[in-house]
Amino acid sequence: MLTFRHFIGGAPCDSVDGATLPVYEPATGAQYAIVADGSQADIDAAARAAAAAFPAWSALPAAERASHLNAVADAIERRAVEFAAAESRDTGKPVALARGMDIARAVVNCRFFAAAITQFSSESHTGPGTLNYTLREPHGVVGCITPWNLPLLLFTWKIAPALAAGNCVVAKPSELTPATASMFADACAEAGLPAGVLNVVHGQGPRAGQALVEHPGITAISFTGGTATGTRLAATAAPLLKKLSLELGGKNPNIVFADCDFERAVADSVRAAFLNQGQICLCGSRVYVERALYPRFRDAFVAGAKALTVGDPADGNDLGALTSGAHLDKVLAAIETARTEGGTVLAGGERVRPAGRCADGWFVAPTVIEGLPLDCRTNQEEIFGPVVTLAPFDTEAEAVALANGTRYGLVATVWTRDLDRAHRVSRALSAGIVWVNCWMVRDLRTPFGGVKASGVGREGGLEALRFFTEPRNICIRIAGESE
Ligand code: NAD
Repeated sequence: MLTFRHFIGGAPCDSVDGATLPVYEPATGAQYAIVADGSQADIDAAARAAAAAFPAWSALPAAERASHLNAVADAIERRAVEFAAAESRDTGKPVALARGMDIARAVVNCRFFAAAITQFSSESHTGPGTLNYTLREPHGVVGCITPWNLPLLLFTWKIAPALAAGNCVVAKPSELTPATASMFADACAEAGLPAGVLNVVHGQGPRAGQALVEHPGITAISFTGGTATGTRLAATAAPLLKKLSLELGGKNPNIVFADCDFERAVADSVRAAFLNQGQICLCGSRVYVERALYPRFRDAFVAGAKALTVGDPADGNDLGALTSGAHLDKVLAAIETARTEGGTVLAGGERVRPAGRCADGWFVAPTVIEGLPLDCRTNQEEIFGPVVTLAPFDTEAEAVALANGTRYGLVATVWTRDLDRAHRVSRALSAGIVWVNCWMVRDLRTPFGGVKASGVGREGGLEALRFFTEPRNICIRIAGESE
């Protein structure tokens, strides 16, 4: 049985109170590890270690912090195969996806922010009679809280800019998927990152996570997770006047016009619905198709969903297991709700029990449902699994109204060859990101985040560096010039 421990002050350690949690392998449903279950005392130790490391770390020239991040990227890359196997085992996702997406992006995240910090600059405003310039200084010790769907990808997406900007970090990964966070801590040690600069405290959200948000030594929190948790976190942080970035849930529309590149639209819509078992906040879970194309698109989409293989994540299947037993139950219950609401299940709709070692794993068949109105639970609530609804629309205005008709606003996708329509619809959509004729293409320089219930604040590129720094204005009078 593996053990994942905290990483505080440059060394692994157990919880002060000795508490642990079981960690399960989603593909088999069996426990394979234990993880330290942190409490306020562990968060406090981590915050103190981070505070002690902060003066030296923040005083380093940006180029030296960048070198450290690049060394961490190298250390991950050297063990990429091991990282991918661990991520796959911990989350249930196909090992090839873990290697090609999660681990590859974790390396790129470190390298990207290493480069970005050396290009980061601040404004100056001249005269008359004054020179104003803006200092961009690190906050001190910041907290990073991440979910289970893309564990290392999202962990590094926050930690890399925080460290690059000169902060020290206390990070709390999801208690469901602690493996690669621990391996990342090891990689930081191997790469020679000074002790205390990065600290990892494992454990449950309401315990370790809550203590992190409440800790007086933590000045800013970057959080990715569900909207309900984000709302709670905001309520905790508000009276403490902490800076907050919230990347929350989505119920993303995918609008397909009749003039689209059909093959590409179908293939990418299937990918957008089911990649990572539908457990990506960016997944397109509501597909709206112009009526003239609807029957042909539906048939091709359903055929695409049925062609996906589901099974052992180590065996080259398209879909692996959902990440927890509780989440499996939630997704199956959502499919039942869809049936109760009058939806027709065109594909999937049930649990899958692969033969062999994965028979008790948490697998769900790619599920396609049609015949549901916008205002039902299935189309309003985030399911976060391999479940997608299809519906026809008649006009551009109707498509936009359907797309915007939930409380979420993370991303949207539009398929059309009409350039004017692409611009018009993109502007009309309430979403932090609109992809036109593509899905999940990420240029890390772009702002990333949602509107409405999908979040507050932006990550990515300079936005992340802005979040992790405090701007201060210095105003100097220039004698001899009139003000
Ligand atoms: P979650 O909200 O349950 O947990 C996220 C993290 O918050 C975990 O580390 C958890 O331990 C911690 N947490 C829970 N309660 C807490 C509390 N009271 N105080 C502090 N921390 C607490 O989310 P999840 O189920 O792990 O992840 C799935 C959700 O994440 C989905 O809603 C998905 O859309 C969202 N997500 C959003 C993005 C994005 O970029 N917008 C990316 C990935 C996932």
